[in-house]
Amino acid sequence: MRFPDLADRVSAIRSRIDEAIVRGGHGQRVEMIAITKTHGVDAVRAAYEAGLRKVGENRVQEALSKMDEADVDVEWHLVGHLQRNKAKFAKRFALIHSLDTPRLADALNEAGLAEGSPLRVLVQVNVSGEESKGGFSASDLTSFAPSLAAMSGLDVVGVMTMAPYGAREDVLRATFGGAREAREALQHAGLTRACELSMGMSDDFEIAVEEGATMVRLGTILFGART
Ligand SMILES: *Cc1c(COP(=O)(O)O)cnc(C)c1O
Repeated sequence: MRFPDLADRVSAIRSRIDEAIVRGGHGQRVEMIAITKTHGVDAVRAAYEAGLRKVGENRVQEALSKMDEADVDVEWHLVGHLQRNKAKFAKRFALIHSLDTPRLADALNEAGLAEGSPLRVLVQVNVSGEESKGGFSASDLTSFAPSLAAMSGLDVVGVMTMAPYGAREDVLRATFGGAREAREALQHAGLTRACELSMGMSDDFEIAVEEGATMVRLGTILFGART
């Protein structure tokens, strides 16, 4: 078995999350999304055997082939950029974390309408303004929110963000706090189901949880370094 102590890791991380919830005082529930990108289906099966039921990938093609091959009963999340011409695959995912442009919103809305059931999405916000990262700025999101609220092919359940890699704690807190405010802006625009905050990765999940994360996306800390 390639990931022998995964169940132990999961329970140690769970404790760290629970302690961070107490420190942060937001009282939220937090779910772990196991990010299996670049690993084989054995990582997906190991996650399942360790009791995890939510698996995330950042590329559609890689996700689709693992879904078929792994053949375990997990929920699949897409956490990376989705090209508009792949919007038709969105329905294979329980949640798209990366609605990052108005044009993608249109494409996903159309796909949801065609499907006859809305697609569950998170709006990606780029709080830090890093050019290498996708997502709406806080002000763009505020102006786009009413349009989003009118898209009945979408079920907008919250916000996702990524902090700058290796950032200092104050920068991390500002980023995660900004995502929390973006979620509030969505709710004020009438997107009352926007309750989730997907933020925090292996290096910064505890601070993200302290700042209110409801979903943490963990790769390296579960499966080791990616090759
Ligand atoms: C790879 C990835 C993660 C997991 O990163 P780790 O640092 O390995 O935990 C989380 N979110 C997204 C969007 C990713 O692409």
